Amino acid sequence: MLTCKDVIMDMLADYLELTFRPEVVADLERHLQACPPCMAYLKTYQKTRDLVRRSGQVAMPEEMRTILRRFVMQQLGRARP
Ligand SMILES: [Zn+2]
Repeated sequence: MLTCKDVIMDMLADYLELTFRPEVVADLERHLQACPPCMAYLKTYQKTRDLVRRSGQVAMPEEMRTILRRFVMQQLGRARP
């Protein structure tokens, strides 16, 4: 079973590599369907990723990394399964 932390770490890994490993996708989707906090995180994550892609940047700016990390910690602290 994936924990929220696993899911978020996978998403961050995807962000950094700009690709999902196919075997990870099924596990992520299963978890997301049962976990609103992770779903909310995913939406924020996708928005951020789209913004970065549109701006033509590949690397995550340090400032955004800090914001994302803080958001992750807030989500994990607020919603325990
Ligand atoms: Zn979760």
